[in-house]
Amino acid sequence: TDLLKVRDLDVQYGPAVALRDVSFDLPPNSALAVLGPNGAGKSTLARTLSGLVPPVRGSIELDGRNIAGRSPEYIRRTGLVHLPEGRGVFAGLTVLENLRMATMGDRRRRTESLNRALEIFPVLGERAGQAAGTLSGGEQQMLSLARALMVNPRLVIADEMSLGLAPKMVDVVFESLQRARAAGVAVLMIEQFATRALDFADRCLILQRGRVAWTGPADDAGSEL
Ligand code: ADP
Ligand code: ADP
Repeated sequence: TDLLKVRDLDVQYGPAVALRDVSFDLPPNSALAVLGPNGAGKSTLARTLSGLVPPVRGSIELDGRNIAGRSPEYIRRTGLVHLPEGRGVFAGLTVLENLRMATMGDRRRRTESLNRALEIFPVLGERAGQAAGTLSGGEQQMLSLARALMVNPRLVIADEMSLGLAPKMVDVVFESLQRARAAGVAVLMIEQFATRALDFADRCLILQRGRVAWTGPADDAGSEL
């Protein structure tokens, strides 16, 4: 059964239609690349799934629960974490302090989650005491992903994680996402580098003017671009 089930989603900003009739499914532990030109509605989809923008119509089921229009906090607890574009790390805090912020107030779970995060990303363990600002751009994104995984989500929305990074750093970002997948987390990816996103993903959704222009296996998407 699907981890995410989106049906007939309409989203508007006031009178302006941003998404119309968007439907798709995401199996557990899969990776979906959401592609499309600027203004197609990719960020709006990410914001709607994560509760930042309510839909005017349609349903979003995560793990069998309807999360359409619920708060970001509720949705996060249901298992979806949105990594917003831009770096979410606190440069002046250490790597460890950044990770701990994700599970404040829950000490028992914190140790467990921390051990798991450091197991997935051993590099962060080696840098635990270092200020996050001294990490490379790719490692900072790795840290921001690791922090997201601290709450044990089933699905991570990676919104332009490689934006503005040098190619070597982009490699680090994709490798980090691959590690998250290996740990059983599904990924919905919005990404400028379409070919890299398609290499990574198993499914693809192409948006155009707020509508689903094409959806199918990532391997078949190349000819649709
Ligand atoms: P993409 O991420 O694919 O570039 P967006 O989701 O950002 O597309 O935008 C989809 C459409 O919604 C565009 O026409 C954009 O101008 C519009 N839009 C996005 N955010 C807002 C907003 N906060 N208020 C009004 N219109 C918005
Ligand atoms: P993205 O495509 O990643 O959403 P943009 O540069 O289009 O980036 O948008 C940056 C910010 O401006 C976002 O918060 C978005 O909601 C807002 N925005 C985008 N388009 C519009 C619009 N037509 N009217 C009002 N706000 C908008």
